[in-house]
Amino acid sequence: MSGSRRSTLDRVRSGSATDVGRVRGHNEDCLLDAPGAWFVADGLGGHAAGEVASRLAVDVLEELTSHPAAGPDDVAALVSRANQRILAAQQEDRGRAGMGTTLTGLTLVGPDEGVEWAVVNVGDSRVYRVDDDGIEQITRDHSEVRELVDAGLLDPADVPFHPMRHIITRSLGATADVMPDTWVRPVVSGERFVVCSDGLSNELDDETIRSLVVGAGDDPQAAADALVAAALEAGGRDNVTVVVLVVDAT
Ligand code: MN
Repeated sequence: MSGSRRSTLDRVRSGSATDVGRVRGHNEDCLLDAPGAWFVADGLGGHAAGEVASRLAVDVLEELTSHPAAGPDDVAALVSRANQRILAAQQEDRGRAGMGTTLTGLTLVGPDEGVEWAVVNVGDSRVYRVDDDGIEQITRDHSEVRELVDAGLLDPADVPFHPMRHIITRSLGATADVMPDTWVRPVVSGERFVVCSDGLSNELDDETIRSLVVGAGDDPQAAADALVAAALEAGGRDNVTVVVLVVDAT
């Protein structure tokens, strides 16, 4: 199931798409779709701030394409560095005070023989895994509504309509210390991943996401395009960004 970093990278094909949506004036989402680094960041703080924060975060994580992480702690350290860079940029420009971003995605970690996925998350952008058995949200949203659901105070079916659905409880650019969640998983032939901003997950339920990914066959770009098109058709109330990965058989 596992192989060298190079052979595993050769098995991972990706596609990506982003759209400003039908309501917002600017696209503050940012994506990275590069060999060994697949991430989405959803900027907060308005035009000229949110889009700066999401770009800064993604630029730091791009280092994974040239310097692979040994393990999830290395990925978390990069997220911490992205946080520091955003905080520094806030200091340099008062117009950027309060800017921040979510950040989530995947990279390959481990020794050259036997690499695994590391998934990382801060905020309410998401990583889903799709296989023949269905769809699973790997990441856990850092959001007020998620905490209400966990406490049994909110029906998950009501989350897409809840007035606090946009309020996140962790982000980059908020405090000096950021605590990303990380997960390590084996690389499995035939699995697919969807990395997305909430502009996708607030418009499409899990089953719709799953069926669009499966319907695109083994073409990750077709899947990314179909997901963004469906989110726009469903309302496009926010910026929509998606990166899709397909893992080929060995
Ligand atoms: Mn968003």
